[in-house]
Amino acid sequence: MDDIVDTVENSLKHAHRIGDWLRREVKRTTSSLKKRAQISEAERSRLETVFNSINDSVMILDEDNIVMLVNPAMCRTFGLNAQDAIGMPVLDVLTQPDLLELIKQPQVRNVMRYHEVNFPDGRVGNAQLTPIYEVGFALTMHDITDLKEIDRVRSEFIHTVSHDLRSPLTSVIGYTELVERAGSLNDNQHEFLKRIQESVQHITSLINDLLELGSIEAGLDTRREFVQVDGILNYTLEMLQGQIKAKHIKVQTEIIPALPVLRANPVRLRQVLDNVVGNAIKYSHDQGDVNISMRAEDEQIIIQVSDNGPGIPAKDQAHIFDKFYRGSNISSHAGSGLGLAIVKSIVEAHQGRMWVESTVGKGSSFFIILPVTTIEPVQVVKK
Ligand code: ADP
Repeated sequence: MDDIVDTVENSLKHAHRIGDWLRREVKRTTSSLKKRAQISEAERSRLETVFNSINDSVMILDEDNIVMLVNPAMCRTFGLNAQDAIGMPVLDVLTQPDLLELIKQPQVRNVMRYHEVNFPDGRVGNAQLTPIYEVGFALTMHDITDLKEIDRVRSEFIHTVSHDLRSPLTSVIGYTELVERAGSLNDNQHEFLKRIQESVQHITSLINDLLELGSIEAGLDTRREFVQVDGILNYTLEMLQGQIKAKHIKVQTEIIPALPVLRANPVRLRQVLDNVVGNAIKYSHDQGDVNISMRAEDEQIIIQVSDNGPGIPAKDQAHIFDKFYRGSNISSHAGSGLGLAIVKSIVEAHQGRMWVESTVGKGSSFFIILPVTTIEPVQVVKK
């Protein structure tokens, strides 16, 4: 009996000790959990403050396009109520047509999509839809009304100056031709006249480029017909044959059979290919490789022009589509910096998109996406 009592007492003491130890452990773990919860609560509220104070409109969507978060700027700009919007499909929440178009744009790999958003009061926003790994998408919009206005004033200025310069230049060329007929010239005078004519022709072609760019940007390019873009590529390659041979460039094309037909302006598409393929050849090293592919995906034609040339430094990549911008990689190659600005305007007038991916020392790839269903040209409304 005594043994049994001893054993029970010992067991009870042991159970007490275990109980004390357990209580201490629970207390310790609880306080550490509390601390952690406090930290993550502080972090969460800090992130929430940041999210709510961002001046740009931000909306986070899950992978099924259900609204997860909306910031106050987005609610103000698009007249939304955050409580009502959260948990709803984004297409039931937003009504702004430009934003809807952006969301409905088919996804090409993990590429960021963007669209200009025009408001009835003249404000303009730049909206972007960025994929977020394992979350969904971030829909953001930045007000670019001021930048648009500066761009409009700058374009108008360039257009007026170009226009006014064209007539005096025509008379300079005319008179240089008359000088040659007015009497005999010595060899030096002939040479100098030839150089004047070449320079004037160079300026004239620059001015023509500028005027052309102005009219594309103003939405005056409305010609649309059914076009087989791979057929246009043949003309481009034929025209560039001289340069391809001179530099021993290996050009390869990969075009899917029965590429869909586009509704586009063939003259403008030719300009696009001439410029982008021309650049790939111009900037490539001797014996370089240029690969051109055309494929169709989700009612779009994707044109990719890749080279293994010098590549474009990251700091230049954001600017190469600007007027007159020439990269720091150009060495002695001649050019005006207008080519890609014209190309981008043409692509956008056809409701398409384009971008570059490039690594210095490895090469560049230009991507052009054109919708197959383009029916009407985009009218750029100049205010
Ligand atoms: P330009 O060729 O007259 O300079 P573009 O507008 O056609 O003007 O091109 C702008 C800039 O983009 C070029 O100055 C060059 O720095 C860069 N660039 C364009 N295409 C390529 C390419 N394939 N490889 C490397 N750089 C390129």
